[in-house]
Amino acid sequence: MSRILITSALPYINGVKHLGNMVGSMLPADVYARFQRLRGHEVLCICATDEHGTPAELAAREAGQDVAAYCAEQHTIQKDIGERFGFSWDYFGRSSSPQNAALTQHLCTKLDDAGLIEERVVEQVYSIDDARFLPDRYIVGTCPKCGYENARGDQCENCTSVLDPTDLIDARSAISGSTNLEVRKSRHLYLLQSKMVNRLRAWLGTKTDWPVLVTSIARKWLDEGLHDRCITRDLKWGIPVNRPGFEGKVFYVWFDAPIEYIGATREWADAAPDARDWKSWWYGEAAEDVRYVQFMGKDNVPFHSIGFPTTLLGSNEPWKVVDYIKGFNWLTYYGGKFSTSQKRGVFMDQALEILPADIWRYYLMANAPEGSDASFTWEHFAGTINKDLADVLGNFINRILRFAKSKFGETVPDGGVPGEVEANLTKELDARLLAYGELFERMEFRKALAELRAIWALGNEYLTEAAPWATFKQDRDAAAVGVRTGINLIRLFAIISQPVIPTLSRQMLKALHVTDSQAIWPNTPAAELLQALKPGHAFSVPDVLVQKIEDEQIADWKERFGGAE
Ligand SMILES: [Zn+2]
Repeated sequence: MSRILITSALPYINGVKHLGNMVGSMLPADVYARFQRLRGHEVLCICATDEHGTPAELAAREAGQDVAAYCAEQHTIQKDIGERFGFSWDYFGRSSSPQNAALTQHLCTKLDDAGLIEERVVEQVYSIDDARFLPDRYIVGTCPKCGYENARGDQCENCTSVLDPTDLIDARSAISGSTNLEVRKSRHLYLLQSKMVNRLRAWLGTKTDWPVLVTSIARKWLDEGLHDRCITRDLKWGIPVNRPGFEGKVFYVWFDAPIEYIGATREWADAAPDARDWKSWWYGEAAEDVRYVQFMGKDNVPFHSIGFPTTLLGSNEPWKVVDYIKGFNWLTYYGGKFSTSQKRGVFMDQALEILPADIWRYYLMANAPEGSDASFTWEHFAGTINKDLADVLGNFINRILRFAKSKFGETVPDGGVPGEVEANLTKELDARLLAYGELFERMEFRKALAELRAIWALGNEYLTEAAPWATFKQDRDAAAVGVRTGINLIRLFAIISQPVIPTLSRQMLKALHVTDSQAIWPNTPAAELLQALKPGHAFSVPDVLVQKIEDEQIADWKERFGGAE
């Protein structure tokens, strides 16, 4: 048994995430966590809301709420939606927790001891009318690169240029619109990432098994030269900087957010201190046997392959640093961006209003944007669900159980012995089950799901060949073998499908009167697996597992969520 620590990029606090966010972080992390638990490993799956920074403050202001109250409310909403999507987090924390504050301040002190922190006086835009500095998104103006008039202080949304607030032309306060601004001097802390380049390069050099997407982004950052990074801000909302002369300043959100992976683990442990030990996952010798895997979209790769390792390695303390980064490309919506403001694409809460979580989980993992970007279209979505889930899996289950009930009653029939057809089936199952497990271990989700679909299809191919409905009249025992094998295939499908479609799997297991504790990863040969449910074992026929998606529904949803331009 191994110990596996799993984190996914923290969803930002301002609002519900769309399907593209989910498929690049929280969903694959959950699928992988469920898979490793099923394999019998000890898993700790951690996520949290990322609550600091100017977007949270501005969103709270727009909602007419105090920022702390706003974050508390949004955290509850995101946690609820995640749970309804079946995310099996061990803990879903908050980056605004006292645990994260203590860790962030501690790590800054250690980085300072290691000579990696420097005080610098920099020029900042100050709003005289608002009586405050205007960092990042608190300032808007015209982009100096493309002329877009609503560029923000940290980035131009139009041309994606990264900006400094002082770069903006005709700058104004995002709070009051005031142009009564001046540049004032302010003292800030810089993390001297430039001093870490050699250590980071050596560390990354050991990661030979990482996806090319991830290593190429990390190397590009190193090759272009790492800039020292300002890790403090003139803001009130955030983690206070524990240093004389820095009263009224907080850490920059990108410094404290990844530390919350550790912070949330402490929150988890503090909820049951006698039973849980956060340090054994993160610190020193006790954590040496932990394998730490992170999930994220490609925009987050620099901060996880360079930024967070700089913090942990630079502290000179024995922190657990990531062992494997699984990065994802983008999921697009008809080839374009998901957009809240333009009402394009599907958000997590809307998705659950129209279909159960497992339908989304299956489609998104089967089409995960791994090798390249992937495009969501309603036509492809409906085609995939109707074929894979309704026809290949759902039909098989209903076909075999209904026939079994009508001819043999509601127990697994006795009689007959497996023959050549069953031998061919078990041989192919053995090969495919092995491949399925290996693909999951390598986190090649698209291929793993293609293998899962191929295993389901074996069930239909087998039934066509064994044809118990045809043999029943002349050879009752031969039909009994077909039915018994078919019912045991359902059990096997339910077990191995659990990481992806946990609710449907549970319905299948329930129909076969198999308890969750019996549903463990199949480590025995398929010939034995297909004898697991013995003659006389009771079952019930479930309702139709997966409803087909109709053309009218597609038309409705395209109307509601937007379609091809
Ligand atoms: Zn621009």
